[in-house]
Amino acid sequence: MSAVIISGKDIASRIRAEIKTEIDSLKSRNEGNNDFIPPGLAVILIGDDPGSKIYVRNKRTACSDVGIRSFAYEMDSDVTENQILSLIDQLNRDPNVHGILCQLPLPEHIDEYSIISAISPQKDVDGFHPINKGLLSMGKNCLVPCTPLGCVEMLKISGIEISGKDCVIVGRSNIVGKPLASLMLNENATVTIAHSKTRNLKELCRKADILVAAIGKCGFITGEFIKKGAVVIDVGINRDENNKVRGDVLFDEAVQIAAAITPVPGGVGVMTTTILMKNTLKAYRGIIEKEKQT
Ligand code: NAP
Repeated sequence: MSAVIISGKDIASRIRAEIKTEIDSLKSRNEGNNDFIPPGLAVILIGDDPGSKIYVRNKRTACSDVGIRSFAYEMDSDVTENQILSLIDQLNRDPNVHGILCQLPLPEHIDEYSIISAISPQKDVDGFHPINKGLLSMGKNCLVPCTPLGCVEMLKISGIEISGKDCVIVGRSNIVGKPLASLMLNENATVTIAHSKTRNLKELCRKADILVAAIGKCGFITGEFIKKGAVVIDVGINRDENNKVRGDVLFDEAVQIAAAITPVPGGVGVMTTTILMKNTLKAYRGIIEKEKQT
């Protein structure tokens, strides 16, 4: 029997429609109000990495689709850290900007941690700021990294029970594996994080009810890693020898064994940008609420 395909494309378009409806109604309620400021997202792109340029373009298109204003800031790859910090400081104070993200990776001479930490936690729509990371691990309300939140939303919207399930996440990066582990733990899964030094990886993965691959290696997770009837979430985005986009999971094998699986493309990747829109709206609501209280 073949697995149910969890379509990120379908789920994302439903979420985007909800976001658009909320923003449209916000705008119509405020028609004629000169003080009204619509949600706005600032995207900083440093250097000319072609992949980053595509991601930034997709984010701006998503903004325009749902009615979020987007502000693009492009800086040369030889920009100094102080120049970026001063732009972030300006954006932190800009009332038109409710979300700020700096597209990663950064050029080598720029310290990623100092850039991430300079973004106001309230506007940190990527959820990478240490305060948001701390709040997430404490199970508190915060801005959560988009890709892992997208994975959990896909599971929930697909009606897949998380509570009490054994979840194995392969990959321990700060942007995917670790925050996803916190999220799944907060949803009462029993979580194991695996990485390149993990022993008996295949056997470990075969115990998972929910297996997440966030490795960055094309087709690494073969059918042998998957328990019959497991749910498989493929976060990987890789290019194969024919330059086709492929996941970390060998889809043709996995689909025969799993109960449900996310495809690549059309799975987690599409969700990431959609959750960014959701996070921007959440940041906007948080900032507006705070302003009302002062
Ligand atoms: P990363 O920072 O390179 O982390 C990869 C992780 O995989 C590391 O923890 C590494 O272990 C582990 N790993 C590598 N080889 C392994 C092996 N042989 N056995 C077990 N674990 C192994 O990558 P990332 O940023 O998390 O991204 C992972 C993948 O997701 C990439 O394909 C990336 O393009 C994709 N991605 C997709 C989205 C999306 O929107 N869908 C967003 C972000 C990333 P060590 O820590 O021991 O090195």
